[in-house]
Amino acid sequence: MYRIRLHGRGGQGIQTGARILASALFVEGFETQDSPLYGAERRGAPVSATVRAARAPIRERGLPARADLIAVGDESLLGVAAAGVLRDADERSWLLIRSGVAAEIWRSRLGRSERVATFALEVEEGAELPLVGAACAGAAARMLGVVSRASLESALERELAALSAQARAASAARAFAAWDELAALAGCVTEEPAPIGAPLPRPDWVDVPLDPADVAAPDIRVPLTSVQVRTGLWRTLRPVIDDALCRRCSWLCSSFCPDGAISIDPDGRPCIDYDHCKGCLVCAAVCPPHAIRVEREAGRATEPEKVG
Ligand code: SF4
Ligand code: SF4
Repeated sequence: MYRIRLHGRGGQGIQTGARILASALFVEGFETQDSPLYGAERRGAPVSATVRAARAPIRERGLPARADLIAVGDESLLGVAAAGVLRDADERSWLLIRSGVAAEIWRSRLGRSERVATFALEVEEGAELPLVGAACAGAAARMLGVVSRASLESALERELAALSAQARAASAARAFAAWDELAALAGCVTEEPAPIGAPLPRPDWVDVPLDPADVAAPDIRVPLTSVQVRTGLWRTLRPVIDDALCRRCSWLCSSFCPDGAISIDPDGRPCIDYDHCKGCLVCAAVCPPHAIRVEREAGRATEPEKVG
């Protein structure tokens, strides 16, 4: 089985690149999986996508324990530990980096003696986030050596069908440029010899002390159970009402409080329930005379307090 992972940033077409690669392998007769891994779903955040391909049914699920080929569309991610680019790279893994820096220099930087390749894709002048997914797919397909140019072309047509003719042509041009650039390494990536579905190592279990049931899982079969969840523990800043400035327009701060943590006493004074005030400071923002000051939270949430 081949296990390939593509890395890039949100907005670079990395998930699409994985679909193109999986589709090209499918056209070649492989069983395939392609699985995007989403973290922070926003433009520029590190993203990855995994492709599995085998000549027999694939029974593996979840993240692969290792990758045969790791294609990196944005070289800056190699310095971001949280991106996890090298998390499972071993001596058998190939590392493919889109970079203008030579492979020998990357080998030296990464402390690897071999199995690092680069491709220097030309991108649009001044592009904030160049689209590189299709190019990564083209380069990876060439390194696998089991995907023909015609199969890659078919996959590009199928997976990019929703784009404009101009965008399709640009992506295909990048994919084939990368394909051509990696010609010398065609077929360098070999399949993992371990049997399909080989058991993964069991994780070490961590014993975590249990909270009482009414704290860990408040009964949700009756209304008003949210009082059992002390959101006051989230607070880092504490709203404090200055009674001398307060105009008793209590409907305002009490209505805007998203946690219902401000009640009104019989004299019309607002009272903050610090067990449940989470410190969002909406009340301070909406208070017309600025009667709610903000203090740094010194300790744990306390019992409900009244002003005055
Ligand atoms: S909004 Fe401000 S002034 Fe009005 S009741 Fe609340 S704390 Fe007092
Ligand atoms: S800080 Fe937020 S949660 Fe706390 S009383 Fe004000 S509005 Fe409510």
